[in-house]
Amino acid sequence: MIEPNSDQETSNDEESGTHTRSKPRSASKAGFEKKTMALVYDFDGTLSPRPMQDYAFLPQIGQDASAFWKESNRLAKEQGADSLITYMHLLYKKAKEAGVRIDRDDLVAQGRNVELYAGVEDWFDALGDYVKLRAESHGVGLRHYLISSGLTEIIEGTRIYKRFHNVFASEYWFEAYDLPYPKRVITDTGKTQYLFRINKGIEDLGNNINQHMPEDARPIPFFNMIYFGDGDTDVPSMAVMRKNGGHAVAVYPPGKAKKKCVDLFKAGRCDFFAPADYRRGSELFKRTCLLIDRILADIRVQEEKWRIGREVR
Ligand SMILES: [Mg+2]
Repeated sequence: MIEPNSDQETSNDEESGTHTRSKPRSASKAGFEKKTMALVYDFDGTLSPRPMQDYAFLPQIGQDASAFWKESNRLAKEQGADSLITYMHLLYKKAKEAGVRIDRDDLVAQGRNVELYAGVEDWFDALGDYVKLRAESHGVGLRHYLISSGLTEIIEGTRIYKRFHNVFASEYWFEAYDLPYPKRVITDTGKTQYLFRINKGIEDLGNNINQHMPEDARPIPFFNMIYFGDGDTDVPSMAVMRKNGGHAVAVYPPGKAKKKCVDLFKAGRCDFFAPADYRRGSELFKRTCLLIDRILADIRVQEEKWRIGREVR
C-alpha cells in the first residue's frame, strides 16, 4: 500500500514559506481553495525509455526483453486475456522456471536500475521554481502524481519516488501460496479512475470514487491538471483530461520517430507534444511552462470571481 508522499508539494503560501507539507486548508481560513495544480505522469515510455521490468527483472531471470513482451502479448491475444494480468503472471512463471526467487524487497531494489530520461530528476524542482516565480496568487500548490500499469514496488525503488504526492500503479499480493498474485491491475482505461480520484480528492483506494460530487466541491479541477503520456495506452486518460477541460502533453524518445505524437496531436488528444527531454529550457519544459502560465492565470480569474461572489451574496 502506497502512502502519499506529500513532502514534495511546492507552495508559496505566505504563512508557511516555500516548500510546505500539503495540508487540508481549514474552512475557517475561508479562502479560495482550488489553487493546487496536479501534474500526472505515465511512467514507461514517458519518464523512462523502456518498460521498467526490462532494467532488472527480465535480465535477472535470463529473459530477453523483447521476446518476453512478444510472448506475453501473443498469449494475451490467443487466450483473450487481459494483457496486464498476463504479463504480471508470466513474469513470475518465468522466474519460477528459472529458479529465481524475487520478493517484494527485490522488486524495490530493481527500481534503482530503472533509467530515466534526461532531466527527469531535476524536473520537479525546476517546475517548482517556475511556479514560485510566476504565481501571483498566494498558496498555489504544485503536486506530481504517477499513474502506471507498471509495478508499484519497482517504482518505489526509483530515485524519483519521493517526488510524487501519490503513486497509483499495479501491485502484487506476495503471500499467495505459490506465485505472487495481482492485487491491483491498472489498465489503460482503468487509469482514468485515478484521474477522478485526484480531481475529487478521494485518493484513499478504500473509499468509493463513484459517488456524485458537484464540480465546485472537487478540490483539484481538471483545468488545473496536466497529463503526460507517450502513446496509445494513454489515449483514455488524455481523452478524459481534454473532455473535462484539462490538459495533455505527449512525449516521444528524443531523436526517434514522433509519428505517434503527431497522430495524437492531430486527433486532438494532446495540447502539445515534445521530445522526452525534461531538462530546463527544453521544448518540453517550455511548453509545460506555457500550460502552467495558463493554469495560473485561470486560478487568478477563478479566485477573483469567487471573491466577487462573496461580496454580492
Ligand atoms: Mg507509456
